[in-house]
Amino acid sequence: MNCSIQNCPGQYGHKQIPYVTTTIKGLVVVKDIPAEVCDFCGDTLLSKEVVEH
Ligand SMILES: [Zn+2]
Repeated sequence: MNCSIQNCPGQYGHKQIPYVTTTIKGLVVVKDIPAEVCDFCGDTLLSKEVVEH
């Protein structure tokens, strides 16, 4: 998939990236989530199912 950043020639590729989230109890949780990362500019798209959660 082509990068969504204007004039960027990069392509998104599947990667697992660390994602930090905070619970209502104040705990910080770090987990690897699937994302699309541009190999040129590093722009990151989270997958739909992650955003919905
Ligand atoms: Zn890009």
